[in-house]
Amino acid sequence: MAKVKPPVAKNETIELEFVDLTHEGSGVGKINGYPLFVPYGLPGEKAKVKVVKVKKNFGFGKLLKVLDQSPERIEPPCDVFYQCGGCQIQHMSYKMQLDVKQKQVQDAMRKIGHLEEVPVHPTIGMEDPWRYRNKVQIPVKGVEGRLETGFYKKRSHDIINMDTCPITDEQNDRMVEAVRRIAEDAGITPYDEDKHRGILRHIMVRNGKETNEIMVVLVTRTDKLPQQEKIVEEIRKAYPNVKSIMQNVNPERTNVILGKKTKLLWGEEYIHDSIGDTQFAISAKSFYQVNPEQTKTLYDKALEYADLSGNETVVDAYCGIGTISLFLAQKAKKVYGVEIVPEAVDDAKKNAKLNHIDNAEFYVGAAEKVMDWWKAQGLRPDVIVVDPPRKGCDETLLKAMLDMQPKRIVYVSCNPSTLARDLNILAEGGYETKQVQPVDMFPQTSHVECVAQIELNL
Ligand code: SAH
Repeated sequence: MAKVKPPVAKNETIELEFVDLTHEGSGVGKINGYPLFVPYGLPGEKAKVKVVKVKKNFGFGKLLKVLDQSPERIEPPCDVFYQCGGCQIQHMSYKMQLDVKQKQVQDAMRKIGHLEEVPVHPTIGMEDPWRYRNKVQIPVKGVEGRLETGFYKKRSHDIINMDTCPITDEQNDRMVEAVRRIAEDAGITPYDEDKHRGILRHIMVRNGKETNEIMVVLVTRTDKLPQQEKIVEEIRKAYPNVKSIMQNVNPERTNVILGKKTKLLWGEEYIHDSIGDTQFAISAKSFYQVNPEQTKTLYDKALEYADLSGNETVVDAYCGIGTISLFLAQKAKKVYGVEIVPEAVDDAKKNAKLNHIDNAEFYVGAAEKVMDWWKAQGLRPDVIVVDPPRKGCDETLLKAMLDMQPKRIVYVSCNPSTLARDLNILAEGGYETKQVQPVDMFPQTSHVECVAQIELNL
């Protein structure tokens, strides 16, 4: 085959019209069919673009100037939006964000899942899509002998210093700054990634939206935290609603934030929050949804799709601290939850007691292994709920579900691609996806969450 030369060269400046959008929110323009991906370009816009990378079949550009602006383009409210790696789509109107997310799920269903007919509903958004995050994990770095906190620049470990993050709960935002100052005054050294020296790696703050309880976690390289008592005292003085001050020790050279060991410095080992009428205790290492307002919407949808009458046996796989399980237990005969993080399972058991729920049992283990074991024990659930991490369900788990033949499966997913892949496998096993509901859990970012209802074809 003749070698086709790309129609553009690196560093060339061109005029480009955007015709599509990638899942990460980049504009896609085409030059004689050759696609160029340009961050922050919007469909329908014409722009001046500098070509920054040329590959055989596609290239990348930098947006220099928008010549013909989309009516959906807005001025991003955050000062560091274009530098920070946290948000990707603040430059889109909220309506457009919701539409784009629905389309992303539809595309995944069609292209990856080969499910042409599945209805994908309009994304359920927030009334006020800002200040929703109940948790921050901020890296700490040393700059000219001082501690600096901020967010990572896109694709780098350089820190952008920022005063406020507009998607983070305001109190948590201020709290990080207070803890940074207190640690600095106490002479705590910042962690140096290159030399693997220094003490403080991250500051994590999580709050309960309904209870206003706060947990602070100091993630350190060393087990010893100098001036520990002074630090605790100062944090408590600054924020009397702090209920838990923890230290997590992470001695490894790694990008993973939390290490294995967590120590209580002061207060309780967990904080509380509630979603609807159900209360939860949450410890430092447990997963808890970051957008509590939308979590209620998501769980209500999952419950609606489970369509329980009160007589069912239900399995909740990847159950975390038992949030969905306890919602389900109030409408089912019996719920079995499984989760891989032991601390989360301890929380789940505690949470069942806290809510006087005695028809939910929780197990520690890999969902795929425990599900197989349940199958061997003869467990035949009527409904199975799964809520896996981004990589989706393990094939063994999908196979075990097919063998167990529940009448319904509810799939909660934070990644439309793996959701579509798994729905296709379930379809081959006789399970039809009835509907998919995207819920905007992460406004201003390109992440999409959805719930799918799947039924056994009889
Ligand atoms: N349903 C919960 C948690 C969802 S997040 C909620 O809504 O809060 C996904 C969870 O899966 C996390 O708690 C993670 O620790 C857990 N997990 C990851 N891999 C797993 C596996 N192989 N088996 C069981 N749980 C797993």
